[in-house]
Amino acid sequence: MPTTFSYDFKTEVYTKKLEFPTGVFINNEFTEGGSKTTIDVIDPRTGQVITQVDEATPADVERAVAAARKAFETTWGLNCPGVERGKLLYKLAEKMEEHFDDLAAVESLDNGKTFSWAKNADLNAAISCIRYYAGWADKNHGQTIETSEAKLAYTRHEPKGVCGQIIAWNFPLMLMAWKLGPALATGCSVVLKPSEWTPLTALMMASYIKEVGFPPGVVNILIGYGHTVGQRIAEHPDIDKISFTGSTLVGRKIQEAAAKSNLKDVTLELGGKSPNIVFDDADLEQAVSWSSHGIFWNHGQACCAGSRIFVQAGIYDRFLEEFTKKAAAIKLGDPFERDAYQGPQVSQIQYDRIMDYIASGKSQGATVHLGGERHGTEGFWIQPTIFTDTKPDMRIVREEIFGPVGVVIKFTDEEDVIRQANDTEYGLASAVFSRDIDRALKVAHRLQAGTAWVNCVNTLNASIPFGGFKQSGIGRELGEYALHSYTNVKAVHVNLGLKM
Ligand code: NAD
Repeated sequence: MPTTFSYDFKTEVYTKKLEFPTGVFINNEFTEGGSKTTIDVIDPRTGQVITQVDEATPADVERAVAAARKAFETTWGLNCPGVERGKLLYKLAEKMEEHFDDLAAVESLDNGKTFSWAKNADLNAAISCIRYYAGWADKNHGQTIETSEAKLAYTRHEPKGVCGQIIAWNFPLMLMAWKLGPALATGCSVVLKPSEWTPLTALMMASYIKEVGFPPGVVNILIGYGHTVGQRIAEHPDIDKISFTGSTLVGRKIQEAAAKSNLKDVTLELGGKSPNIVFDDADLEQAVSWSSHGIFWNHGQACCAGSRIFVQAGIYDRFLEEFTKKAAAIKLGDPFERDAYQGPQVSQIQYDRIMDYIASGKSQGATVHLGGERHGTEGFWIQPTIFTDTKPDMRIVREEIFGPVGVVIKFTDEEDVIRQANDTEYGLASAVFSRDIDRALKVAHRLQAGTAWVNCVNTLNASIPFGGFKQSGIGRELGEYALHSYTNVKAVHVNLGLKM
């Protein structure tokens, strides 16, 4: 028998008993995995096991790919008109709306993010993303191209086929929506592997996908480990495209596996070490609030976190004082407490990694201006941490920490801060704070990053593309741009009278 999740939420903000199947989801059915083993799901508040889900294996990847291929060639892909695909995506968005609080509660339990942020950010973003792509499903047309009166030429945007999608744990549901939305809108079928650390909301979605009527095999969801199931998806010869969200380290492996197998098309959404530049003339209060959100939102577990905060000398002391007050006031607590802003980090491994970075900052001579310690005695909470007096070659300045740890760096000169901001292997996001819009835009244009925020940070929208320069990734998610990575362009030449 496949596993089932059963949990009685009795919290200040959400009370309900939830039950749903958590098996390997292939062809709209939940089954046990090939090895009949399970994966423990851990509560980040306590480190204790919440539940077990069926573990998928490489043999299950074979089953899932066969199901996705069959669906693509029969009920989906070119055999299902865009308007019908759009209807199903709209229905899925409505189903998510119906289960808004349930999804948010499970996301919060599984990941450690607060219930209120799960609702306000993750759920809203995921639902609007599915709706956005529902709208695109019947609007992604090719072009007709005028060449001569003897020729009719046009292009078709054909779905790529079976897509492997592998995602991270920091925004499980939202990342899933970013993947499913454009893939399903364009007519691709999917084999999706969520992170083994946060499998639960993806499995709730599996039930909804079946309930709203997606044909069997269009979406298959496998909870398995990266080095087994993830690796097999990346190297599978019958997967036409892979879209990956995760670390740069694993992104490299994905690209290598794709190259060594069938040269499948690859989209990579990877890590970041984003600069956040505050000029002397910035609105201090706003710059402080956004910068705090930039690094401490989602406990610093955001790929686009503004983790390197460059502050101009004239405003530096006042900024640091206010920023420190703001960070010190962050309420750490149980994710289901009404006013908690920061819950526990996702796992023991992440907790250890972040504490190791904090230790390296201390030992390499940076000053711990705030925090730098564990919070509480159990679970994975870490105090919001600010480092000052850093040097450019320190690990905390160069590497992605993926936790609530920011470095504040003083600068004087505009040219110099642009050079420092770009002195990184990453290029995911960036932010500039200034009341001088000419300067803000000039600097934004020179930052080597896929996103440049001006007088704000971490504001995303389903219609605006997101992705990285340099080693932060390849390709774009969201917006019209994401459709390109799920379609092949075919040029059709029709002879209207040209004789040989
Ligand atoms: P990770 O790279 O360790 O894992 C990501 C996914 O890849 C997981 O599902 C994992 O099981 C799988 N995986 C691991 N090894 C694999 C292998 N050899 N082959 C195939 N799959 C494998 O990353 P993580 O710890 O889950 O997530 C954190 C990272 O994700 C950070 O670097 C963060 O910046 C990045 N991220 C990027 C974006 C973006 O949009 N650019 C969004 C969220 C997270």
